[in-house]
Amino acid sequence: MTKRPADEPLEAAIAAHSPASKRPRVDDAADQDLPPPPPPPQDPVANGRAAQNGAASTHNGTGEDATRPDDLDDEDLDQPVPSARQREPTKGYSDLYLDTINRARLDFDFEKLCSVTLSNINVYACLVCGKYFGGRGHKTPAYFHALEVGHHVYINMETKKVYVLPEGYEVKSDSLKDIKIVVDPKFTLEEVKALDKHQQPAWDLLGKKYIPGFVGMNNIKANDYTNAVVQALAHVSPLRNFLMLEDFSSRPQLVQRFSILVRKIWNSRAFKSHVSPHELMQEISLRSNKRFTLTEQADPADFLSWFLNNLHLALGGSKTKPKTSIVQTIFQGSVKIESQSITARADAGDRLRFEDTEIKSQTSPYMILTLDLPPAPLFQDDAEKNIIPQVPLTTVLNKYNGITAQEKMNNRVRYRLLHPLPPYLIMHVKRFESNKFLQSQRNPTIVTFNPRALDMSPYVEPNPKIHPLHEPIIYDLVANITHEGVKVRDDSVEGEAERKVWRAQVKEGGGEGSQQQWWEMQDLYVDKVNADLLSTKEAYVMVWERRRNGKGKAKAA
Ligand SMILES: [Zn+2]
Repeated sequence: MTKRPADEPLEAAIAAHSPASKRPRVDDAADQDLPPPPPPPQDPVANGRAAQNGAASTHNGTGEDATRPDDLDDEDLDQPVPSARQREPTKGYSDLYLDTINRARLDFDFEKLCSVTLSNINVYACLVCGKYFGGRGHKTPAYFHALEVGHHVYINMETKKVYVLPEGYEVKSDSLKDIKIVVDPKFTLEEVKALDKHQQPAWDLLGKKYIPGFVGMNNIKANDYTNAVVQALAHVSPLRNFLMLEDFSSRPQLVQRFSILVRKIWNSRAFKSHVSPHELMQEISLRSNKRFTLTEQADPADFLSWFLNNLHLALGGSKTKPKTSIVQTIFQGSVKIESQSITARADAGDRLRFEDTEIKSQTSPYMILTLDLPPAPLFQDDAEKNIIPQVPLTTVLNKYNGITAQEKMNNRVRYRLLHPLPPYLIMHVKRFESNKFLQSQRNPTIVTFNPRALDMSPYVEPNPKIHPLHEPIIYDLVANITHEGVKVRDDSVEGEAERKVWRAQVKEGGGEGSQQQWWEMQDLYVDKVNADLLSTKEAYVMVWERRRNGKGKAKAA
């Protein structure tokens, strides 16, 4: 970032970068117009101001690279404003540059880094071209952008205050309100409550109609797997509402950036009818040590697990105590695991005898329930290869009925869910055999289900103190991440390879029964989908919402 060599003494560095030592540039005749350099610096700050006065007063709009500072940390708002700059606009001129603002170029979805220095300190967006610059003080990239390119209106990405540069005065105009909303959409409790009702359409700047909450998301390179997860979580009402209403300014970036992305997804006053997850993805890539990046596809179930755990910790949740953040309150349940070791011994007649060994029982918390598919049948001929195997979800869930045993490393293991089940159940249909996702074998079995009224009671250990016996526990599907293997030519394997395509299907609130509206999103592509067709795709991660009471309307906690 900095151009100064690390071993350069500080005094030398200040001198070298101070305007007094500005080297003449033969290729830039405009430099000749500048006033003579001020006397050698006594105080580098004061000297900086003097030089800046000169630059501002010449106002020639030419390059000033020779005086470009190497870092921004030592300047900004606290310093006295140089005499050539204004605190207040000249009377009647406060709106002078506002018609140069180009809203079509603004979305503020990209990581807030100065496009010149890559610094994230004091970043302003140019409202004319949409680029980010550090600044706004003298010698800053924003200041120079104003001089060089003639773009004059800037918004501070933190404070959302708008300034005219290079003059440096703040513009307070109601006509800027829409921009501040796009930078950082805010919702009132009333507005959030209305999100689960049928959404009114909105129009973006280009006049394109969209439904807030059901918008596309940029795939920057290979982040469709995270897009699908973000879309699914943005439709889990209690999590969404929390992310929209709480103040996360003292929380880690992961929460702040997820919160703002969720608010942008639901923004009814957006300039564009899609959002970009770029800013969140940068943080995810950093926090996960590049396990999850936007340049390489990964498994959405792995990512979801990582993301929920890290959100939980970022929200102050405990590593050991259960239900210490809203993430766990919404998704965490516990499962009873009984295991019995399988031992066999030859008896006197040399026959193998199985012995009854002690049953060990333990309970374990979960946020994602893993579902195993029956092995895909081996097909004999090409005609049979076209048959896609199917299995009902209720059959797959029998893993948790406490009766069906699975063999696991010389143990017979039975699982049963415990009361109370969480308000939202996440299920992961395990389709890929090895954890090495890239080389893994896919099981194409279709899991069939009805998105309405899944009764989970057969998979829960009875406990009349918490839940009446024989009463159903009804869940409705709210989000479904699907997998599709798309055949692509691959010369490296001399034939066809399979590309994984991840989509999110999410339910729009407000509709009952057959009125229910479902949406399917694959990156920027958004369309309505018939609820009856949801289970024709390879379900991969499903999110189910518990109904408050057996038959009543599903309601978020
Ligand atoms: Zn600009």
